[in-house]
Amino acid sequence: MLMHVTMVGMQTPMIDYLHFLLDSVGTDAGAVASYIPELAHADPDKLAVAVASPDGVVYVAGDADAEFTIQSISKPFAYALAIADQGLDVVLEHIDVEPSGDAFNEISLDPETGRPRNPMINAGAIASHALVRGEDADARVGRILDLCSRLAGRQLSIAEDVFESELSTADRNMALAYMLRTVGTLHGEPTDIVRGYTRQCSVSVTVRDLARMASVLAAGGRTPDGDQAIAPAINRQVLSVMATCGMYDSAGDWLTSVGIPAKSGVAGGLMGVLPGQVGIAVFSPRLDPHGNSTRGVRMFERMNRDLGLHLMDSTDSTRSVARRWEREGVAVHEVMGDLHFVEAERVLRGFAQDPAGDAPVVVDLDRVHRTNDIARRMLLEGIRRLHLDGHEVRIVDPWGVLGSAETGSGELVRGEPARGGYVPTAFPDIVSALRG
Ligand code: GLN
Repeated sequence: MLMHVTMVGMQTPMIDYLHFLLDSVGTDAGAVASYIPELAHADPDKLAVAVASPDGVVYVAGDADAEFTIQSISKPFAYALAIADQGLDVVLEHIDVEPSGDAFNEISLDPETGRPRNPMINAGAIASHALVRGEDADARVGRILDLCSRLAGRQLSIAEDVFESELSTADRNMALAYMLRTVGTLHGEPTDIVRGYTRQCSVSVTVRDLARMASVLAAGGRTPDGDQAIAPAINRQVLSVMATCGMYDSAGDWLTSVGIPAKSGVAGGLMGVLPGQVGIAVFSPRLDPHGNSTRGVRMFERMNRDLGLHLMDSTDSTRSVARRWEREGVAVHEVMGDLHFVEAERVLRGFAQDPAGDAPVVVDLDRVHRTNDIARRMLLEGIRRLHLDGHEVRIVDPWGVLGSAETGSGELVRGEPARGGYVPTAFPDIVSALRG
């Protein structure tokens, strides 16, 4: 596992940028959370940032090894587990997905449905915790801790002092749990559920951990080691509620100005996920009136401006996805990058350029590492049609992105993928084999 960047040549400007970012946030306004007595003792001047790529590189600056409690940043992960355990339909019957515009600890339910408005405010988070399988609080927390540890790439633990401290003053969350039981949303003993929810909030993390957890969400739920820790459809659900509800009553402001699905915690952590690209975490304990880290928000705003990370800034990944070239009368379609619907459409457009006839065609997928289901099926259909047009088709698919699907008479030329390295393509051989 790559946690530190080992440099052999120049130092990547990434690290310099992160130091610059820390310097740029200035002094702090706001106060540390004090309704949890133990949090009032936190050093308010701690400051850290970490940026993690989906392939496992983590860049850090500042107090990157300072531990703090995850607090509400645990909510997306408990929600993911609740969906994995119960199925999305059951979870939606209990918890809505509408931004509430309320503070995180508002004692409110939707007046018509009786459900908490979303899983990111405490009412919804307590309900999601209760939907995680496990016979008691310890069993549920054990499973949430395991999931968080898998994503962080190391075994995490509970900060017992913070847990005890919050539980001793958890009247408001206790009130929420009793209210949820009154309307039939909560099955189980409210005190046991609040105990579990409070423990889940007391998982101890660093920005390094959170950035890596965020990078797994950015990678569709898959860890850098290839472990599909969260199913892609659940991952998408989680990121959607983070985008619309993760920042409570400043969610709209956040999505328009920063544009990254995010979740904050009252210990001062803030985690952001740019799907397909990067996981980011910051830590600074002083909070704004919404309960979000003051300097954390500032750092994200700055990164958005400097690094162009807004979700709604569109990219045009299709332009460089495929090129077609010919050698000795053999057309080669060289395909690159991850394939989704739009990229696959571009590839099919390339196939359509080949006039019907028996000229051989090579489809080279050596530089494609992932396709989603629709892109895979589109590609297979394109290959089938090339056959129907009379072409002899050869497919180079060393990573197995086409799966074991039937590809007509096209012969699959597979090699062992050389993990982490560029696999020289088999073109010259294939081209000469076709000619000979
Ligand atoms: N444990 C905290 C609570 O329930 C979490 C709140 C937060 O981080 N916003 O009050």
